[in-house]
Amino acid sequence: MSDPLQLIDIGVNLTNKGLFNQLNAVVENAKSAGVIHQIITGTSLEESVLALELAKTNRLYFSSTVGCHPHDAKDFKQSDIKIMQQLAQDESVVAIGECGLDFNRNYSPQDIQEEVFETHVKLACELQLPLFMHQRDAHSRFAEILSRYQGQYKSGVIHCFTGDKSQLRACLDLGLYIGITGWICDERRGHELQEAVKYLPLDRLLIETDSPYLLPRTIQPKPKGRTNTPQNLVWIVKQLASILGLPEATIASESTKNARNLFALTI
Ligand SMILES: [Zn+2]
Repeated sequence: MSDPLQLIDIGVNLTNKGLFNQLNAVVENAKSAGVIHQIITGTSLEESVLALELAKTNRLYFSSTVGCHPHDAKDFKQSDIKIMQQLAQDESVVAIGECGLDFNRNYSPQDIQEEVFETHVKLACELQLPLFMHQRDAHSRFAEILSRYQGQYKSGVIHCFTGDKSQLRACLDLGLYIGITGWICDERRGHELQEAVKYLPLDRLLIETDSPYLLPRTIQPKPKGRTNTPQNLVWIVKQLASILGLPEATIASESTKNARNLFALTI
């Protein structure tokens, strides 16, 4: 028997009710599947507070992020920045985000999204914390805003990357790590990403389930519900290994090393 894989899930929405209500089982199953650490995503001020509270219950196993998702940018207040600054002082907060731009759904007006995103980038520069970012159908504005701060921010990850080869290159040029989710396991809409990851250097690869979303479609046997959980991270590893022609152990060890580096994890 080879050693079990040791994986870090860099994006888990554990404060989501569907997961929170069965937290013990979710965590035990993840541990059995080799997930040694989870980073809980803060998607709004309220969620960021909850994410940190949860992270504090087991600092070795959890970390968290502090931010406001572009969907919620319209509800962001300038006074929120102070609270975010305070939350980010806690040792368990390892990144600023989720933040970014989403021009696919446009739940918040685009100019507000841009303003709030830039506020997050400035905060990350000030605190010297990495950025945890979301971008959908907004690549050029995203790259434009971020490039203004290049050299000032302490790296970051574009989480749930779904772009093509040229967008991948642009993100790498911005010094970013690339978060790969179960999107890569989707035979209907994952083709571009499956091509693009062939150009992703292994030292920029991160893996995440984005639970409870994006259930990998390659899971065998097919699960009954649609709720994704961190234990499914291994299916993303399997898919990457098969596309890249590398052992699963290599995908696991490289992505775990990268997560430790980017988020300065002490585990
Ligand atoms: Zn996202």
